[in-house]
Amino acid sequence: MPSLEEHCCISLERTKGKDDFRKLHEWMDEPKKDLGVNHRMLRHTDNASDREFVKTHWGEKAVVEWLFHIAIDNLVTAYKSSNNVYGTAYNYYRIAIVEDGKIILTHEKLSESQLIKLFRDKKD
Ligand SMILES: [Zn+2]
Repeated sequence: MPSLEEHCCISLERTKGKDDFRKLHEWMDEPKKDLGVNHRMLRHTDNASDREFVKTHWGEKAVVEWLFHIAIDNLVTAYKSSNNVYGTAYNYYRIAIVEDGKIILTHEKLSESQLIKLFRDKKD
């Protein structure tokens, strides 16, 4: 599952270096200490109560980061499940969301070296 640092990096990149939303991501994954892999039963589902809690504590932009945290955790879980069920999984996705809400998605299975080449500039 994505680490705290990965979630913070993603938020930092999305906010163009303004905020890594560390406290939000820590709060979301805090139940991991007691629940282990089942920690996502808490704070990882879009609902009015948690949405309001996040908004009150960290602001409206934190709600966006909260939703992306949930989406990314689920994407990684889907990737791992695909590997288990199909014996392989796509590891590179491009998702476009167009104005009417439709999704355009392409996916590929790339080698580790292809991924490194693609993201070399991102990781340095
Ligand atoms: Zn999480």
